[in-house]
Amino acid sequence: MALSYMADKRFTNGLRTGEQYIDDIKNDGRRVFINGEQVEDITTHPSFCEAVRSIAALYDISSDPDNRKLMSFISPKTDCPVNRIWQIPKNIDDMYLRKFAIERWAEETFGLMGRTPDHVAGFFVGWASNPKVFETEENNQMADNLMRFFEVERDNDKYITYTIIPPQIDRSKSMHQQDPSDLYAGVTEETSDGIIIHGAQMLGTGTALSDYVCLSQITPLNTGDENYAINVVVPCNAPGLKIYSRKSYALSGSSTFDYPLASRYDETDSLVVFDNVFVPWEQVFVFKNIKICRDQWWKTSAHSMGNHQAQIRLCVKLKFLMGLSKRIAEMNGVINLPAVSSLLGEMASYAAMLEGLVEAQIATSNEISEGVVEPGRQALYAAIVLQAEVYPKILNWMRELCGGGVIQLPSSYLDFKNPEIRSDIDRYIKSPEYNSEEKVKLLKLAWDIIGSEFAGRHEQYEKFYAGPPFVAKSRMYQAYDFKGGDDLVKSALDGYNLEGVNRK
Ligand SMILES: Cc1cc2nc3c(=O)[nH]c(=O)nc-3n(C[C@H](O)[C@H](O)[C@H](O)COP(=O)(O)OP(=O)(O)OC[C@H]3O[C@@H](n4cnc5c(N)ncnc54)[C@H](O)[C@@H]3O)c2cc1C
Repeated sequence: MALSYMADKRFTNGLRTGEQYIDDIKNDGRRVFINGEQVEDITTHPSFCEAVRSIAALYDISSDPDNRKLMSFISPKTDCPVNRIWQIPKNIDDMYLRKFAIERWAEETFGLMGRTPDHVAGFFVGWASNPKVFETEENNQMADNLMRFFEVERDNDKYITYTIIPPQIDRSKSMHQQDPSDLYAGVTEETSDGIIIHGAQMLGTGTALSDYVCLSQITPLNTGDENYAINVVVPCNAPGLKIYSRKSYALSGSSTFDYPLASRYDETDSLVVFDNVFVPWEQVFVFKNIKICRDQWWKTSAHSMGNHQAQIRLCVKLKFLMGLSKRIAEMNGVINLPAVSSLLGEMASYAAMLEGLVEAQIATSNEISEGVVEPGRQALYAAIVLQAEVYPKILNWMRELCGGGVIQLPSSYLDFKNPEIRSDIDRYIKSPEYNSEEKVKLLKLAWDIIGSEFAGRHEQYEKFYAGPPFVAKSRMYQAYDFKGGDDLVKSALDGYNLEGVNRK
């Protein structure tokens, strides 16, 4: 169906509510598979329904009239308030407004949902900031498609996720050299109405929950890989699209009390298969063009805006971990031991360092295209490199603080319902300021972020969501001001010679 510009009439002021989001994805024909079966309705299935509710809660926050100033701005197209996540920043003030809105959303999930609607919206903001990058020598069609899509989705407050990495099959070969050549998602056919995509893409976090999935490649492409050099969007209920979810941690958690985080914030990750999926031309932004496919990440603010959102979210999560750590130390009566406060101080220094890097990204915002700013890249890539090391370190220190307390816990909330078990739990699992239920509650919360399967996935996520660490380091290498260092070295070398100090 062709995209026509129209703001959804159901939305008061162009801001989507949680209920409207749920209505939109309910029984919409999307094909999500888990545990050997196709999910009938994502909004009621036990593996997904709590995550759907968590996303809906975000839309309720952004559409709440009391949050209008914080969470919205005026659409240049409709003159109505629309979600702040779609705002193209023109200056540092805009960057801060964006940060405050992202932070508010992240606080709602304790930073535990990475691909909330503000993540990929950040990439679209970056692309829409510099649509010229999408123009080909022949015409502006792709740039026009992109801008139209951006405006429609902004004014309809849609939720887009993305898959930009191919599956791990044989990384020693280029995409077109895989056997057969249509293993990785790419163009297999072209018609006057659109294109056909066939193949798979690795991980769509949140794709089961979103309205659209964006398919592109950030992996470097070689000559011959043109069929994969694309950027397209596909509705999650498009015929032929198959979303294969990994195991659900929400489902494996026995109760909210026992797994308070996994049960509510498991955004799920999926292998996304495009089985001859038709994409109309209006939803194609890059078509078989290796140069544009590469430039869209680096010659626009897409990569920096999307990852800046991720850093703001991570800082909220680290704050949450710090709060948990301090409370556990207090509960166990060890907070005043110098070794413990020193450990907490060391942990806090890392959390503060990442917060500082987010501030630095804003403070060093610079013009990326006419009248549009992007977060400073040096601070951005420094944060991406560091997060992969800092996050596991913080988890490890939390484990140290928790000791065996997180293991010596009742098997489930049901133990509290059995009077005999309860009396022993009440007697032996407690602390001066914490009764048994409070103590167990806090330690189960901690375990769900340091030790459960959900926690393990989070550790993998923070290491890899922005690409593998070796790639993040090479981006940092590109972004760092080595020229400044080189000038200093030159000045030092010029300052002396065989005769001693060189006084000019
Ligand atoms: C929880 C989670 C959620 C994710 N969500 C999304 C998502 O929503 N959308 C999306 O598009 N992607 C997503 N990803 C995928 C993510 O982008 C990739 O995992 C990431 O880019 C790394 O690619 P890879 O997993 O293929 O690792 P690989 O590229 O295969 O690398 C794995 C390891 O192999 C080694 N290695 C490989 N190549 C080299 C080399 N050239 N030089 C040196 N060492 C090398 C390194 O040790 C590297 O860490 C997600 C990943 C995770 C773990």
